[in-house]
Amino acid sequence: MANFNTHVTVAAAISAPLAASAFVMGFAHMNEAIFYALAGTLGGLLPDIDADESIAIRLVFRLFGALVAGLIIAAWVNQLPHWQVLALAATGYLIVRFPIQWLFEQLTIHRGTLHSLLANVMFAAIAVPIAYHVFDLSAKTAWGIGAFIFLGATIHLILDELYSIELSGMRIKRSFGTALKLTDWGEPLASLVLVLFCAAGYWLSPPPDAWLSVLKLY
Ligand SMILES: [Zn+2]
Repeated sequence: MANFNTHVTVAAAISAPLAASAFVMGFAHMNEAIFYALAGTLGGLLPDIDADESIAIRLVFRLFGALVAGLIIAAWVNQLPHWQVLALAATGYLIVRFPIQWLFEQLTIHRGTLHSLLANVMFAAIAVPIAYHVFDLSAKTAWGIGAFIFLGATIHLILDELYSIELSGMRIKRSFGTALKLTDWGEPLASLVLVLFCAAGYWLSPPPDAWLSVLKLY
């Protein structure tokens, strides 16, 4: 399989020019294009968050912990003394980093359901409402971020699959076919949970009308 650096580099190398073209063609402002390039790069490491001890899981849970801490500060900064807000924010961060991350590691197996196209749809379906409700971005930007997350994560799966073909002898390693899949059919319950997350994410998302009207013009 491709390693962390390869995944990040390739995801960035594809997302950044795409985001730049969106800017050049007038689909996105400069700051939106930067968000898209970052979203594509982040997407490129999401499928490996099911690998315990991976750089991907640490990075994603650090970001998630920082997000929770930031939300706690935003919610209470005017209501409580500052030292209490900071203590709460630190507690929130630590809860995400240790008990929640530990639970997540127990519940997932590497290259299981989270390493699939269905999971990629779910990552996007979670990213859109977070971008829209938490970061207060427009519906159009939020959907653009979701699309780039999906793109980056799908590049990851394709890259893992390419790495399982040995070009020299055209031999195929045993891992072939485990990376790029619709879902893990051996884990129907986990797949169902992903479908439910997709539905909940879509339900919490703003309507994608802004993009639909842009696409209709072409
Ligand atoms: Zn992978």
